[in-house]
Amino acid sequence: MAELLRKDVKLEDTWDLTTIFKTDEDFWAEFKNAEENLKNISNYQNKLANSAKDLLEVLKASEECDLRLSTLYVYAHLKNDQDTTEAKYKEMYSKTYDLYVKNMTEWAFLTPELMEVDEKILDSYLNELDDLKIYKFEIEKINKSRPHVLDKESEKLISMAGSALSASSDIFSALNNTDVDFGEVEDKDGNKLPLNHGTYGQYMESKDRILRENSFRAIYKFYAAHNNTLAATLSGKLKATKYYADTHKYSSTRNSALSNNHIPEEVYDNLVDTVNKNLHVLHKFFRLQKKVLGEEQFRLYDRGVSMIDGEPAKFSWEEARDLVLEAVKPMGETYYNDMKKAFSERWIDVRPNKGKRSGAYSSGGYATNPFILMNYNETLDNVFTLIHELGHSMHSYYTRKNQPQTYGSYSIFVAEVASTCNEALLSNYLYKKFESEGNRDAMLQLLNQDLIGYVGTLYRQVMFAEFEHLIHKTIQEGGVLTAEFLNEKYFDLVKKYHGDALEYDEEIKYEWSRVPHFYYIYYVYQYATGFSAAQALSSLILEDSKNAQIYIDEFLAKGNSNYPIEVLKNAGVDMSKSYPIERAIAEFDKKIDAFEKLYFNK
Ligand SMILES: [Zn+2]
Repeated sequence: MAELLRKDVKLEDTWDLTTIFKTDEDFWAEFKNAEENLKNISNYQNKLANSAKDLLEVLKASEECDLRLSTLYVYAHLKNDQDTTEAKYKEMYSKTYDLYVKNMTEWAFLTPELMEVDEKILDSYLNELDDLKIYKFEIEKINKSRPHVLDKESEKLISMAGSALSASSDIFSALNNTDVDFGEVEDKDGNKLPLNHGTYGQYMESKDRILRENSFRAIYKFYAAHNNTLAATLSGKLKATKYYADTHKYSSTRNSALSNNHIPEEVYDNLVDTVNKNLHVLHKFFRLQKKVLGEEQFRLYDRGVSMIDGEPAKFSWEEARDLVLEAVKPMGETYYNDMKKAFSERWIDVRPNKGKRSGAYSSGGYATNPFILMNYNETLDNVFTLIHELGHSMHSYYTRKNQPQTYGSYSIFVAEVASTCNEALLSNYLYKKFESEGNRDAMLQLLNQDLIGYVGTLYRQVMFAEFEHLIHKTIQEGGVLTAEFLNEKYFDLVKKYHGDALEYDEEIKYEWSRVPHFYYIYYVYQYATGFSAAQALSSLILEDSKNAQIYIDEFLAKGNSNYPIEVLKNAGVDMSKSYPIERAIAEFDKKIDAFEKLYFNK
């Protein structure tokens, strides 16, 4: 089928960007104004310390600039993404991006200037004017980082070393993305197929075992050949981050990384410990997968294969819309009606067309609706994507509606909670629906999809998190990250997490060297904490509708007005305790049993 051209997409399948700017002319008029306005920013330098009134004026001016630029940016990036072949929007986007960066650069003086004002003086200003009081928490966070900010000269010296210190990441990226060459692989019929990062994922899910094995051997042949190089790049990256943590007087790299979002370190340890105590449930899953696939020897390259055969069910867009709306009914009438607006007010760009950006996301700014980009293709997976993105959108919607601009977004630590919670609600709703219809195949398909989620988002990410902390600790204690050390420690973890259902191919010991996330520094654990928090919240919501209202008021509506860990706690989930993770694992365990029972009692 020929790809649809953008101009031929039905209006009701497109997002309504006229709610941001009526026309492109209106956009450009505002662009010119905003550009002109940037020239005034330097007037606000060296001013905020003078008086409470001046401080308010500077903060307000900075917010106004951010708001204007983010509104322009949202319009330009959505226009560009809907059809990247259209030159005028490409230009609009790149000009807006430049202006956006320029605005940030112009305002870069703000936080350092705030840091230079004595804490007591700042406090007295905040109490002097009512309009300044809302900034108290924002300033409190800045004050907390004071012990870790050095004098101007030292900060300058450290930042001058920045590009040299990022060399390890650059080298890894050049090798792993540009110079990488896995060659070709043969499938079971002897066809030669191209192997790259993208096709590797597809091949590992293929029912063709020869293709899977060949792909597995081929990529690890590449990583084995670069084992020492990649040990050196990873070690270099870890040393660079330790240098930043040390010079800024943090007790460790982890302490430094987690203080960005004000996450207590016990949250990390608690996650790893709790999952370690429950590895037997993951082992049980692999035994089930082995039994279902019927392999005599269940190997690492068999893990990606679905336990389900046959044609997957299809869902029209209208069906998808009705399903996701039904699924969120436990959230209460207000949420249901607010989410309906996504469809009636055209927040969503539904179908793929030529030149449209692939995948899906939720976007928007403080002054705009949320907007969702989809490439809807009627699979069950896509219905989940829809409710996932709607989860992000509703989180943004309630946050912006209830918070002042300064707290109008949310931290990365909680970014996937609302989206994953919505997915859990959909899964619960669909399971009951399929069950009442006696649709065994659909029930199995759903369970299979859920189980993959637990393995990939909870257990696998915690295995990464455990490895990541181990290697940072090794550096911290003066150890050396040799290739042998990394291989051995990683292989031990793989065996510990997968249990005795599997036969182990030694190549897996190189897997650490192809994971870009280890260069993000203490990032992956948030997938697992977000996932567990969402599972726990969805069970609370399904138990009692009162909990749904608490979730909306205390979590979705709170944005950045409190520390992310506190926001979650007030909504009923304390991530420094083990129960949210245990609860998620108990659900996983139940679903393994349900799958097994349904699959084998035909
Ligand atoms: Zn998401």
